Amino acid sequence: MNKEKRAQIRERLQAERERLIASALGTLEDVRHPNQDDLNDEVDLATFEQNETVSLRLRDREAGLLSKIDETLSRLDNNGTDFGFCETCGAEIGFERLLARPVATLCIQCKEEQERVEQGYAS
Ligand SMILES: [Zn+2]
Repeated sequence: MNKEKRAQIRERLQAERERLIASALGTLEDVRHPNQDDLNDEVDLATFEQNETVSLRLRDREAGLLSKIDETLSRLDNNGTDFGFCETCGAEIGFERLLARPVATLCIQCKEEQERVEQGYAS
């Protein structure tokens, strides 16, 4: 995968990351915790995300996604040439799929197989 494509995926990841953090801030506002009274819409996301409170208040699913995003971003940085290959079969995941779902670690065939297995366990 070339540099430009990786840059596009990085942008997607960072946008998704900001969205998650913004939604965590929304959760904080709903909760109206006494110590968070001074929070407002102008809060600097970059500063705020350092605050552990955000991760504590993220729902499990969102927290999982956020850690996947961070993991994927560091893979992009540290190991750019290996980025974008399926964990299970080693095939290229494909740029279109990664753009749609940048945290994907499986190719579409392996993902579908995994979902079949999971549904099998569930029923
Ligand atoms: Zn695969």
